[in-house]
Amino acid sequence: MSPFFLLDYNSKINFSARNEPRGVGVHPHRGFETVTIAYQGAVSHHDSAGNSGIIYPGDVQWMTAASGILHKEYHEQEFSLTGGDFQMVQLWVNLPAKDKMSRPKYQDIKNAEMARYNLPDGGGVIQIIAGEYKGIKGSASTFSPLHLYNARLNKGAKTTLSFPENFNTGFVIIEGGVLINGEEVALTDQFVHFNNDGDEIQVEALESSVILVLSGEPINEPIAQYGPFLMNSQEEIQIAISDFNQGKFGYLED
Ligand code: MN
Repeated sequence: MSPFFLLDYNSKINFSARNEPRGVGVHPHRGFETVTIAYQGAVSHHDSAGNSGIIYPGDVQWMTAASGILHKEYHEQEFSLTGGDFQMVQLWVNLPAKDKMSRPKYQDIKNAEMARYNLPDGGGVIQIIAGEYKGIKGSASTFSPLHLYNARLNKGAKTTLSFPENFNTGFVIIEGGVLINGEEVALTDQFVHFNNDGDEIQVEALESSVILVLSGEPINEPIAQYGPFLMNSQEEIQIAISDFNQGKFGYLED
């Protein structure tokens, strides 16, 4: 679903309390961006470019690995000690070839500061993580045209989303249930993949709902992927592996 390459969805799960935080140790990325969207729980992050932060419910971390970065992602210490519900999405957003070797970048977008559009009649709110909605620009900058929203709809709310027909568009139903185009019902944990055959989507919330909305212009370039590297050719993958082995991605303490 270019420009989105991967969607890692952790549906809501309750983690027991634990002294040693669960998570993923130091690992590299090159050629794309990781976008982490928190709904429940808390994750702490550190990377070799010196960025660190904690992502709480509603927050988004937009990390541009680009030419190469090392990072680690763990349950935040307090969350780990108490345990609790955990629900998150991590997206891998591809970069155009011309930007794959640009400098790493980090955008920390707090829930409270996120661009938003309040729907009329108390229908809820569209939080604009990136792109644009009704003329309101999203909080994150992107390298290719895309829209990413958290649509938080109250029961009975109706709204229309418009995207160019050639954009690849999908919904993750994070919470609740919605009626789409007056035809199809989508419920919690389901993914909706739209055909490229129209530019309007009607959504009606059957109950209080949260939808992650993704839509982007496809990057029509060759793809070569190996583990945490996403490039355009096998040769570039070999270079990434070699650069990583030579320590060119920097240093991060385990
Ligand atoms: Mn990672």
